[in-house]
Amino acid sequence: MDIELIKGVGKVTLDYLSKLQIYTIKDLIEYYPYRYNILKVIPYNEIIEGETCTIKGIIDTEPKTTYIKRLNKLSFRIISDNHIINVVIFNRAFLKNQLKLGRMINIIGKYDSKRNQFTASDINFEIITSTKIYPIYHLINGLKNKVLAKIIREALDTNITLEDYIPDYIVSKYKFLAKPEAVKIIHNPDNYNDLKQAKLRTIYEEFFIFMFKMNYLKHKNTIDNQGIARVVDRSKVDEYINSLPFKLTEDQITTVDDIYKDLTNKERMNRLILGDVGSGKTCIATIAMYINYLSGYQSAMMAPTEILARQHYQSISSSFSKLGIKVGLLVGSIKKSEKTKLCQQLVDGDIDILIGTHALISDGVEFNNLGLVITDEQHRFGVNQRSNLHNKGQMCDVLYLSATPIPRTYALTIYGDMDTSLIKTKPNGRKDIITKVVKMSNIKEVLNSMLEVIKKGQQIYVVAPLIEDEDGNSDLNDVIKLKDKLDMAFNKKIRIEILHGKMKNNDKDQVMEEYKKGEIKILISTTVIEVGVDVKNSTMMVIFNAERFGLATLHQLRGRVGRNDIQSYCYLISDKDIPRLKVMEESNDGFYISEKDFELRGEGDLFGTKQSGDMVFKMGNIRRDYKILVQCKNDAKAFVETNYVNNFTNYKQFKTIIKEIELID
Ligand code: ADP
Ligand code: MG
Repeated sequence: MDIELIKGVGKVTLDYLSKLQIYTIKDLIEYYPYRYNILKVIPYNEIIEGETCTIKGIIDTEPKTTYIKRLNKLSFRIISDNHIINVVIFNRAFLKNQLKLGRMINIIGKYDSKRNQFTASDINFEIITSTKIYPIYHLINGLKNKVLAKIIREALDTNITLEDYIPDYIVSKYKFLAKPEAVKIIHNPDNYNDLKQAKLRTIYEEFFIFMFKMNYLKHKNTIDNQGIARVVDRSKVDEYINSLPFKLTEDQITTVDDIYKDLTNKERMNRLILGDVGSGKTCIATIAMYINYLSGYQSAMMAPTEILARQHYQSISSSFSKLGIKVGLLVGSIKKSEKTKLCQQLVDGDIDILIGTHALISDGVEFNNLGLVITDEQHRFGVNQRSNLHNKGQMCDVLYLSATPIPRTYALTIYGDMDTSLIKTKPNGRKDIITKVVKMSNIKEVLNSMLEVIKKGQQIYVVAPLIEDEDGNSDLNDVIKLKDKLDMAFNKKIRIEILHGKMKNNDKDQVMEEYKKGEIKILISTTVIEVGVDVKNSTMMVIFNAERFGLATLHQLRGRVGRNDIQSYCYLISDKDIPRLKVMEESNDGFYISEKDFELRGEGDLFGTKQSGDMVFKMGNIRRDYKILVQCKNDAKAFVETNYVNNFTNYKQFKTIIKEIELID
């Protein structure tokens, strides 16, 4: 059944829903509330003066309309527990026809005993007599909670079959609710106990799917053993490393050793490099591709954004061209004819390394003999990963790069299926970035140091939370306004440009190019530049409305500067005193910051950002529900080990998941 067929879903609503990424009835049902409101109806004698409460009563007089300062005011009387109370409600003229004499209603509002008057903020016609728990959903402008709740209830009434991803024996072991019952309760709970049970089941299922994927891959890897045992002359690898303009850090050396072992043994590599921004992960990835090249295989490297893919392409192709290694770039915006040509070269083996965005795994992209896949800041299990990376029956080696530092205990659980290499040491000579929180009223101080930096011939990133404040009613800084302000502050003597997601690709490239060349001195952008951009001459990061960003984002943004031995600075502009910003002043260590983030926010947005999409759970919270997560990990492991041999015949629902996560189909 289509979502359009649901009562109340017209074109406008459809549009709202798609903005919330809701396209199917299943999506609707799995759009869980993020919190609940309790509505408790109290008797007359429990009313607390001046506090918001809900009472019930029977309408005793026809509502009268009056106007006070152009506000429409409805007044009427109700009888509530044998007391007559005057009720007023403002700006709800449309309710007049529904407020019929003798009708029972719930009124939410505040009571004033002197005037015996109840000022209502809302009136409820589906009468509640005791307590009611209302689901509250994340919304977008224009879509009302009530409307969405109703549509979801309609969707539940369609009784579509939802796959249950908790194996039956586990359901009985923990006495979980049945899935259809659980989702109904989530959206429409009667009482807290039921809700608790329903949530537990839902969280367990989410975690179980995740842990299944992880354990499946791990198990498959140990069983299949069908990696490529490369034959590589180590001295050639060392020669390449020695030709780099710098010495590898100790952790980088260890990581290269790990990768060299992985690539030359017959087991498939499944390795994660976990290291802070700027710790030199990309550099390692390049070495891995070189090892893979030496053994005669092609490599693919996938980046999350086009800007980043292009940047990787530029630096990697320039360092490899002198070695005769051919590098190609495949991103969404390239011409069809160019793509066709590129794909042909790829099949023919005329390209050794392909760098790109998700376009890499689009249809029609086939390799001659792919041996290594590198994924930069990528969701491991995202749908996008459902890839078409063919490899003539061979299992290619996989390397993940992540700059998302997470506390150790969680890392072990989350990345349990992978071997990890940790890069903690900073490249030699790197200094900590001096960070300062500054109030808007002291912006002069920031402008002065910006000027100093420019005078020294260095460059500056400026970040704002919005591209353009379309409604014009928030007091947030936006990219467009900031450009005007800074142009004014510096008398247009300094070249300032903007960069944001709504610009055309050509324009973006142009700006990036000129910034790299140092022609542009100040680059104002949204968080587009968050991931990976590398311009060594940038020594200052200024973030406006810093309170709007999570710690992970702030840390990533700050990592854009301090990329050489020059002292770099970061200004966090905010009028709010929030602990997050203090943490930034305190430390440059991503792992420390991630621990603090967990402390401050519970789960922390380290798991919530797009960089780690596979760790975003709809209902589960890795920190709060850590015990469930660990339980799931053990249950999923046993489940995989038992059912792998007969290919999950008794659990067909897991087959789609398996398809989704396998890099080769
Ligand atoms: P990451 O991918 O972890 O953000 P990169 O590999 O892009 O880090 O490295 C950041 C910058 O530091 C790059 O310009 C890179 O050339 C340089 N770099 C990498 N390793 C070292 C090192 N050992 N010493 C000095 N500079 C390094
Ligand atoms: Mg191997």
